[in-house]
Amino acid sequence: MTLATPTTLPDPERDQGRRHFGQFSLKRRVLLSQLPLTISTLFVTIAVLLIDPGVATGSPHFFLGVGGVLLLTVLAGVIPWQRFHPVVYWVIPLLDFVAIAPLWSAARYVLDGMSLLTAFPVFWLAWSGIYPVLALSVGFIGTAAVTWWPYLPGVAPFQDELIESNLARPVMVPFLMLALGLAASILTRSMDRQRLELGASLDRAASQNRLLQAVVETSDVGILVVDGEGHDILMNQAQRRTHFLGLPPGRDDGPEHELLLFEADGVTPIPADERPVTQALQGRDYRGRIVAIGTDGAQQHLSVSASPMYDDDDNFDGTVVVFQNVTDLMEAVQSRERFVAEVSHEFRTPLTSIIGYLDLAQEEAVNPDVRRFLTTSQRNAERLLGLVTSLLDSAAGSSSVTVQHSNLARLVRHSVESVQVQARKAGLSLTADLPDRMDAEVDPVKMGQVVDNLLSNAIKYTPEGGSVSVALRQLPGVDGCGDWAELTIRDTGFGMSEDELGQLFSNFYRTEHVRNAAIPGTGLGLAITQGFVRAHGGEILVDSEKGVGSTFTVRLPIDGPPPSGS
Ligand code: ADP
Repeated sequence: MTLATPTTLPDPERDQGRRHFGQFSLKRRVLLSQLPLTISTLFVTIAVLLIDPGVATGSPHFFLGVGGVLLLTVLAGVIPWQRFHPVVYWVIPLLDFVAIAPLWSAARYVLDGMSLLTAFPVFWLAWSGIYPVLALSVGFIGTAAVTWWPYLPGVAPFQDELIESNLARPVMVPFLMLALGLAASILTRSMDRQRLELGASLDRAASQNRLLQAVVETSDVGILVVDGEGHDILMNQAQRRTHFLGLPPGRDDGPEHELLLFEADGVTPIPADERPVTQALQGRDYRGRIVAIGTDGAQQHLSVSASPMYDDDDNFDGTVVVFQNVTDLMEAVQSRERFVAEVSHEFRTPLTSIIGYLDLAQEEAVNPDVRRFLTTSQRNAERLLGLVTSLLDSAAGSSSVTVQHSNLARLVRHSVESVQVQARKAGLSLTADLPDRMDAEVDPVKMGQVVDNLLSNAIKYTPEGGSVSVALRQLPGVDGCGDWAELTIRDTGFGMSEDELGQLFSNFYRTEHVRNAAIPGTGLGLAITQGFVRAHGGEILVDSEKGVGSTFTVRLPIDGPPPSGS
């Protein structure tokens, strides 16, 4: 990814290579069409001079023929044919017949196959592509005239021998030339058609190219296309601006691995082999990876997506990487979270005081009605405090955790035991498959909340008669990394659809089914849970099918979250 890269799409016209015959000027084409006859005539002259010099020096026909061909070659090269109608240059092949006639009649006793010289003007007329029927007819008449001309009394040399020869002898030559001319004409027409079709396709491709280029250039989303060998083939203006932002101070260009790129937190540098373009070049297909580019006040957040491309044989053929600037969005989300955290914090102190005084008031109240009112008020105040606490947790969800050496198996067992009664009351079977001990570096309070929340959800959202199972196991690490703990909570409850799963970890999201069924909840639990798990360097996955059940899987590094900056 360098700024010096030209921002152009592949241009099919540009890649056509060297010019071909059809692209030369008319003057040049006329000269090139005449040259084969000129060269053949020179060969004939040399051969005749070697075999029978008398014919070359003593025959006016021979001199006339060679001179005529040379003169016509000069005319073909000097006349500005483009100023006239294309049919005008036919005058050269037509006069070629006139020059070939005396040459043929003089040299045909020295050399065999002299009549084949007429093939040159015949072919030329046929492939000129204009007035094909007329071209073939003229070619036929020209050849016939050349081959019969010497038989006319008093014209050709060696007249006495000719008179005795049969006039039917040369009859094959014009017909043969007609057939060859016809073949050439058909071939030319089909090539012309192909050329027209190719031209039209190239025009279409060029106009699509222009359209695509305009769209790509006007897009404010950064677009980078890299070929299979890692060369940039397209970088639009928006991407050049973004690239510039990431350059180290004082630089005005540089490769991708030198850009100041950070994880979403804006401070953890991304190692070279985990950079978005490097990963895209490894054929990775990903969506919405958040990275930060640049430093200090100029830092921007980008959402990066990559789509690999494959050729017909399914080999990696490059990648398209798209960078969307989401700085404003990130700032909006952060300020909303700050607002929620501050408001919840401000609510907690008066609420705690209200609950305390309600408690005191209950003890003092003698009237049973007043006690009932106070109990209801206290219950609702406690609910409100619970909600405010959840909001605070949600805002702090992604913040750091305080890990310590803990027995994760015992922590999970405690959570399971504390919901046994609740599960029995709901008519559910609750089973756990836990090792005796599993040491892990976790924040016991936050991990306790994670397990409690997933377990209480499984119980809340599983109808009577269903089952909930909990399992904890240790997974070996790969590539020399430490082991992982995997907690699975499976239920046979309502389950969720694909669409619902997509929004599951958003704040306040609750599925339609549980809202309609008026099952109490805030829709914050899973967002908080996910924040806690991520803060441990882990991940939470969910697999669910509507009407069948759900499985939540939490994976955590046993050795605690990786140190930031690695
Ligand atoms: P709450 O349970 O307070 O509504 P959560 O964030 O914990 O909030 O869960 C969000 C929503 O996800 C729930 O309202 C419910 O619709 C759905 N959900 C969570 N866990 C399950 C589950 N085990 N089975 C079915 N739906 C679930």
